[in-house]
Amino acid sequence: MTRNNPQTREWQALSSDHHLAPFSDFKQLKEKGPRIITHANGVYLWDSEGNKILDGMAGLWCVAVGYGREELAEAASQQMRELPYYNLFFQTAHPPALELSKAIADIAPEGMNHVFFTGSGSEGNDTMLRMVRHYWAIKGQPSKKVIISRKNGYHGSTVAGASLGGMTYMHEQGDLPIPGIVHIAQPYWFGEGGDMSPEEFGVWAANQLEEKILEIGVDNVGAFIAEPIQGAGGVIVPPDSYWPRMKEILAKYDILFVADEVICGFGRTGEWFGTDYYGLKPHLMTIAKGLTSGYIPMGGLIVRDDVVAVLNEGGDFNHGFTYSGHPVAAAVALENIRILRDEKIIERVHDEAAPYLQKRLRELNDHPLVGEVRGVGLLGAIELVRDKATRKRYEGKGVGMICRQFCFDNGLIMRAVGDTMIIAPPLVISKDEIDELVTKARKCLDLTLNALQG
Ligand SMILES: *Cc1c(COP(=O)(O)O)cnc(C)c1O
Repeated sequence: MTRNNPQTREWQALSSDHHLAPFSDFKQLKEKGPRIITHANGVYLWDSEGNKILDGMAGLWCVAVGYGREELAEAASQQMRELPYYNLFFQTAHPPALELSKAIADIAPEGMNHVFFTGSGSEGNDTMLRMVRHYWAIKGQPSKKVIISRKNGYHGSTVAGASLGGMTYMHEQGDLPIPGIVHIAQPYWFGEGGDMSPEEFGVWAANQLEEKILEIGVDNVGAFIAEPIQGAGGVIVPPDSYWPRMKEILAKYDILFVADEVICGFGRTGEWFGTDYYGLKPHLMTIAKGLTSGYIPMGGLIVRDDVVAVLNEGGDFNHGFTYSGHPVAAAVALENIRILRDEKIIERVHDEAAPYLQKRLRELNDHPLVGEVRGVGLLGAIELVRDKATRKRYEGKGVGMICRQFCFDNGLIMRAVGDTMIIAPPLVISKDEIDELVTKARKCLDLTLNALQG
């Protein structure tokens, strides 16, 4: 990248001298220097070199209402003046957290009327693990400890979050997963479906849950956790047969079902929650990201009434965070939900933006490098392959990273998960901006193909 602004170099020096970046190769980043993002508006970012970039990832899946919303800044500053901090421990509370729990109950699926607040999605899943085990202990079934999760699922980066997640490259560092967490196959037909049809494979993948429950013994299983659509794993939209079969299995066995809604929640699928999109009936839902549109950190766990009824009999729940329900974060979340609701942003995703994006994205299917385009709502994935018919990859070439670099250089952020390019733009993206996204994506696919052939 060209560096014409002397400040870019200064900031990169600060990075190399003092900063350790998440999910990064520290040494490599020292040499290369990060791109410095300085400001943003709507669906666009600007870097310190003055480049304007269409943010096809809404930050990290979170900036639902787009950048530059004055109302959110105003909500934060007002709350900071009124009550910048107080906690929810020891029988105290404050209005923003209480009003937010009601606002969330109003949009959550029926019968889910209580929220436990955290500072992030990872903390939401840590809370879930402790709450699930506490729940079964109260019910006199303390052996129901095991949480079943899925390979290549993402549930955060704390010890419990990374253990619940199925990312082997995360497990390899720090002796994870912790005991009591097991993983089953993911419903990733394109990558792992072999000779099965997507429908056959979906049923097969769902049946892995039943097999695992029977193997461990239902008396030892506390819960199953899944993202309705896996995000960080590569926008893995399960085959149509998957969730219906899963629903049968979940109804058959006495275990809790946790939907990790950190990405799917708050409108991403064109419904308030991914579970609404698939008609699922979770006991618990983890939330974060879109809850505040990423303007300020906040997460939580929404809990179904029947689970709360049991927890009510258990005395103290010995768990909480200094920043649980932080008043400034809660004020921002409340305003964010108001914007989503009053501006009918989710209805617009459902009726206009999602059908348009999905249609335009699928036009890329004719590109020689593209093996599959899939997506739901404003989530999309483009699989890059050497051979469409056999779904064979360009092994070892790092095609995803090549494409991602071309995107960056051409004013588009698409993320690469292996050789899968993924997008999740702000929910407020317009049709013109979708056109720009798809045009740029095609150009970058061309450049990538050229680079591979050159
Ligand atoms: C991002 C994410 C998390 C973790 O959230 P953090 O706020 O980064 O801790 C958990 N689950 C899913 C599905 C996510 O995408």
